[in-house]
Amino acid sequence: MKRDYSQCMMTDYDIYLIDRSNSDEIVDDYFQNYVVFDNVKKEFFVEIDFQKEYHHMFGFIEQYDMMMNADIKSKLEKRYKPYPQGYLGFIEGENIKYYNILINSYNIEKYDFSRDSFYRSNPQYFKRPYLNVLSGHKVKLSYGEGILDFIYADFFSSCWDQYENFVCDPREDDYDSRYHNSESITVYNELQDKVELLYDFERTMHSVYKIVYSSIYTAICPPRFEKDFDPYVVIEWYADRLQVVQSEFLWLIEFCYDEDYLPEILGKMTPQERFHLFKKIHRHKLEKPRKEILSFVRTSAYDENDCDIEKKEAVEFAFKYDQTKFLRNSKLSLEELLDYTMSKREAVVKYAFSSVFELLELEFSKMLETNIRFKKCKRCGRYFVVKGNYNTNYCDRIENGSRYTCQELAATENYKAKLANNKALSIYNKYYKRYRARVKVNQIKEPDFKDWKLKALVKRNDCDNGTISPEEYETWNESYFPNRKKKETK
Ligand SMILES: [Zn+2]
Repeated sequence: MKRDYSQCMMTDYDIYLIDRSNSDEIVDDYFQNYVVFDNVKKEFFVEIDFQKEYHHMFGFIEQYDMMMNADIKSKLEKRYKPYPQGYLGFIEGENIKYYNILINSYNIEKYDFSRDSFYRSNPQYFKRPYLNVLSGHKVKLSYGEGILDFIYADFFSSCWDQYENFVCDPREDDYDSRYHNSESITVYNELQDKVELLYDFERTMHSVYKIVYSSIYTAICPPRFEKDFDPYVVIEWYADRLQVVQSEFLWLIEFCYDEDYLPEILGKMTPQERFHLFKKIHRHKLEKPRKEILSFVRTSAYDENDCDIEKKEAVEFAFKYDQTKFLRNSKLSLEELLDYTMSKREAVVKYAFSSVFELLELEFSKMLETNIRFKKCKRCGRYFVVKGNYNTNYCDRIENGSRYTCQELAATENYKAKLANNKALSIYNKYYKRYRARVKVNQIKEPDFKDWKLKALVKRNDCDNGTISPEEYETWNESYFPNRKKKETK
């Protein structure tokens, strides 16, 4: 008899994972990305999926158009009408704007150069804007940098920005009937799914790009809203979900890495021990699988001009006279064999991931493997990674509307505070000298002077703390003993 587990009680951890996986409306695993970690340099490289773009999909779209029967096609064509060109021009403009922001904020480089060459050699296709401006790019981050960037991203503001400038999909004239249509769509084959999911992703990005591009992790793992979503509603759910994950990872960093968090209980524990305790408290499973992939990367390009000609000739010679059998058996062309033998390659361990949550967990697990330290910035109160032995209490973030980092601002602020301190001291010295001189000529009695001195020292402290201004301190000193000259003139 088949065993039915549908009534089986779920553990807290099962519920926790379900909350963080795909929902009926939002799917987080559309992009298939990879990440390579370097525990020595404490850096990682993220390769962002390049295959979910039109220039990689036109072949499938054409097959889809040919394969689907007329009846289904007419239904689907209604659903996926083409965008007007003017609208795509607007999207292209927005893309350029956000691409520039991302490129200027992170260490990003392009590795898939195929789009322009595709359109050059296939001029019959209309050039489409990128669906995600980071498709086919590589991002280099340091351990902790990605998590902090995500934690402090302002999804709330970008959600409102998205609402205020909500661009209604120009194709959706029957807006209401579409979104309240519970009719299901029959999927006949993989190809249909591939093409229609692309269309859904395109619509998703058009309605949510401002939120997606407000952190590097959301841009690396953009969402796909399910068919028949009402973007106006789902945008908020998406932003809400991101904010829940933000607060969770902020708490995790505080619990595992903040030396000032419950020092009497956690003070002597390492981040690994703290994380173990965290999992025990929350009844989470202690073991966490990671999708490790062994892969090969070319570390140097094969370049005819650069390559050692003698070596090439020697290899050719060897193949010609001695090893033609090897070449024949290997079923490789001479060019391929030369390429493989003469370019440098390395085996690397990659991790596959699709969702923001998976990438956060991967980075966190790598942080635990290495010795990463966080501190809370004494100026803005946000965590930052302590690099090397460099001891600072301030982060190097630049706040919105400022041109300077917290470190730079703190330096000038501390300098000003010091100047203020010096000011208080110099005011005190000035009056000390003046009143001491008056004691000598018996204008002020010794006990009165001592009285003034005690009060002046307390006030100097107030001035140092900023409780009173240097001007107020000066006035107080000036008027403490009535001025003789002024008295005389009266
Ligand atoms: Zn700061």
